[in-house]
Amino acid sequence: MSTKYVYKFSEGNGTMRELLGGKGANLAEMTNLGMPVPQGFTVTTEACTKYYEDGKQINEDIQNEIFENLAAFEKLVGKRFGDPENPLLVSVRSGARASMPGMMDTILNLGLNDEVVEGFAKFTNNPRFAYDSYRRFIQMFSDVVMELPKPEFEKIIDAKKEERGVTQDVELDADDMKDLVVRFKAFYKEKKGTDFPSDPKVQLMEAVKAVFRSWDNPRANVYRRMNEIPYDWGTAVNVQMMVFGNSGDNSGTGVAFTRNPATGEKALFGEYLINAQGEDVVAGVRTPFPISHLQEDMPEVYNQFAEIANRLEQHYRDMQDMEFTIENGQLFMLQTRNGKRTAAAALKIAVDLVDEGMITEDEAVLRVEPKQLDSLLHPQFNADEMKKAECIGKGLAASPGAACGKVVFTAEDAKEWAEKGEKIVLVRRETSPEDIEGMNVAEGILTVRGGMTSHAAVVARGMGTCCVSGCGEIVIDEEAKEFSLGGKTLHEGDFLSIDGSTGNIYYGAIPTSPAAISGDFGRFMGWADKVRKLKVLTNADTPRDAKQGRSFGAQGIGLCRTEHMFFEESRIKAMREMIVAENTEDRKKALAKIEPYQQGDFEALYEAMEGDPVTIRFLDPPLHEFLPTKEEDIKEIADELGITVAKLKEVIASLHEFNPMMGHRGCRLAVSYPEIAEMQTTAVIKAAINVTKKGNFSVKPQIMIPLVGEVKELKFVKDVVVATADKLIAEAGIDLKYEVGTMIEIPRAALTADEIATEAEFFSFGTNDLTQMTFGFSRDDAGKFLDYYYDNKIYESDPFAHLDQKGVGKLVEMAAKLGRQTRPDIHLGICGEHGGDPTSVEFCHRVGLDYVSCSPFRVPIARLAAAQAALKDK
Ligand code: PEP
Ligand code: MG
Repeated sequence: MSTKYVYKFSEGNGTMRELLGGKGANLAEMTNLGMPVPQGFTVTTEACTKYYEDGKQINEDIQNEIFENLAAFEKLVGKRFGDPENPLLVSVRSGARASMPGMMDTILNLGLNDEVVEGFAKFTNNPRFAYDSYRRFIQMFSDVVMELPKPEFEKIIDAKKEERGVTQDVELDADDMKDLVVRFKAFYKEKKGTDFPSDPKVQLMEAVKAVFRSWDNPRANVYRRMNEIPYDWGTAVNVQMMVFGNSGDNSGTGVAFTRNPATGEKALFGEYLINAQGEDVVAGVRTPFPISHLQEDMPEVYNQFAEIANRLEQHYRDMQDMEFTIENGQLFMLQTRNGKRTAAAALKIAVDLVDEGMITEDEAVLRVEPKQLDSLLHPQFNADEMKKAECIGKGLAASPGAACGKVVFTAEDAKEWAEKGEKIVLVRRETSPEDIEGMNVAEGILTVRGGMTSHAAVVARGMGTCCVSGCGEIVIDEEAKEFSLGGKTLHEGDFLSIDGSTGNIYYGAIPTSPAAISGDFGRFMGWADKVRKLKVLTNADTPRDAKQGRSFGAQGIGLCRTEHMFFEESRIKAMREMIVAENTEDRKKALAKIEPYQQGDFEALYEAMEGDPVTIRFLDPPLHEFLPTKEEDIKEIADELGITVAKLKEVIASLHEFNPMMGHRGCRLAVSYPEIAEMQTTAVIKAAINVTKKGNFSVKPQIMIPLVGEVKELKFVKDVVVATADKLIAEAGIDLKYEVGTMIEIPRAALTADEIATEAEFFSFGTNDLTQMTFGFSRDDAGKFLDYYYDNKIYESDPFAHLDQKGVGKLVEMAAKLGRQTRPDIHLGICGEHGGDPTSVEFCHRVGLDYVSCSPFRVPIARLAAAQAALKDK
């Protein structure tokens, strides 16, 4: 049987959203429920996909099917397309599977032309209304279908108002509207070289094409990427009979929610306008009334609407967002959908629906978007103020939340200004470990370079600080303390606002509201924890991070990047000394300075985790992150080492690497200098002995060797670890167990995971490096060219943010299997940034990992994502 591309509303139902889109499926469902829905039909998402497959054309079969349905539709409603006596006018609206509010296009009043409008004027006995509808249609059609910008038409209206000496549209009469139609059409012809299409069937087909085309418009593409909506889903098109809320004072239009979408409060919430069409409500030209006011204006209509709203909520068992129109006192439902809501409202509604007996706890867990929890954990921009905000650019949404403050360009200035009580946003070309203290006091961090796993992004996420990274359009002059973006130049001290959840950068100050976890949070997360199979650990480099992760429910530390313990200025010198040491003796001296810091921090980490696993990764510093660059730092280290500045510069030059990410880092350091592994093992074990001796809980350190690609290099380092650890434990005379495992972050390790598992007691997938090495592009530089890949539909999303399940995921799955073959009780987890990304967490569940580990502020997200993965798998 040939594919059916068009469905009458009466042929579909609510389960068909993949084919009919959300709007189409719900219009069908409301029709089936006997609700007053203006009738029509839906052209399917498959027709949209076919349109693109056929080179952006609607083929003849689909066109015929549309016209056949149109004919049946005309019969059903007793009106005809192009018939001046009894005209059928329709709206043509997009409707994708997942709702994408405002992203695609809508055309109203389609079917009008010079003859029809005359008949329509007679039929409605309201020429002004008829011509107003006609000019609106020409304007919308020209904008959406023919890409003639709307403001050009607004200019024509303004000129007309000036001529007539009036200021408001409503002051223009029927003749003025008629004249506007003439002017609009003349403008159209001048720009397009052809007459405005008068045949309603041509108008219809062009409008359907325009909606299909709008699936691919830039704002829809960006929205999809942010919301992980696949490009190949396509949008459906709904063709629906127009009803007119602007046909007099007994008419109106509005939008309402069954519960408050901002707070979740259970009460009808919304607004309406009398004598208006949908776009008037959206445009905000007139101030609408609250929905409760309708009870006085039109009590019968209100009661009918309230009853329908209630039925819809009961039917869908979720908060509904509805559009309605009243035409001459008669109510019509134009749309219903599960309403978008703030995170706070999502939690309250989910919990209330459980308490009202409408849904189960498991269903409630599925009702909140994991990513949404971010907004409870970080400050957000004040929604009203956002409407006035001026967006001057966009970078990567590297660490969520909103930040507003005065611009500073160096970490030192950040510290100084913060000490004076100023709120600051730190703007840097890129960040490095020496910026850490400045980053720590910043409200937000903005960088010109660097991807989702760059230093700025990883560190900011760890701190829970808002960060937008890799905005390459910024022209920065750090010396002059200024930068330019989007036509604005900002100097030190100027206000800037950034949104780390969207990547948007705004000129000036936008007030923020603080993070707010409500009372429902704990109860809700408890339901999530009951069902998830994956454990959720945290990536924590400092005792502060560990406590933060613990407070968000982390069940241990899955990754402590020990080199990050040296970001503080007082410690970084020792680290640099170690790196630039030219001989074992100097290196040991530097290591001796490092050891007590490490031991102290490890003790604090064990204490914070109260016996839960603490995974300590041995040093993995990509050298470029730590080499001193400033003259005064070089001088200080030279003095410490007792060598000349020139000599030290020579050493630094000799350490230069062409590709530090693939250079002398990871376990290669310990292979070259086993004393590093020896020192770190000593710190790990001595700290464990001290904490164990206190007797509150037992500690079993997990020692993790990074960047292994060959079992023999793992064995080499492990031998050093075991010899050092066993000696210390024997000397202490206590029973202390520890494990030695590895990160799987080089493709060769994944390919030979069966061999690696002979030595490794656990695997932690380092998917930042594994992604970098599998794709063969640098995690720091990919941001420069990935946009071209999105634009050309080669990649749909950043593989450093969402795990590439096809390629990198295949390596993960294979290595997990090989590892378990060799060592059935091996623990498997992930600690790359993907560990806090909901779709990647779902993947980890599916391939049977034991845990995910992510930055502290993403722990709740991972807990919820893991629960949803388990429920979807049931
Ligand atoms: C990784 O590579 O995924 C990882 C966690 O290590 P890092 O980001 O420190 O290289
Ligand atoms: Mg790594």
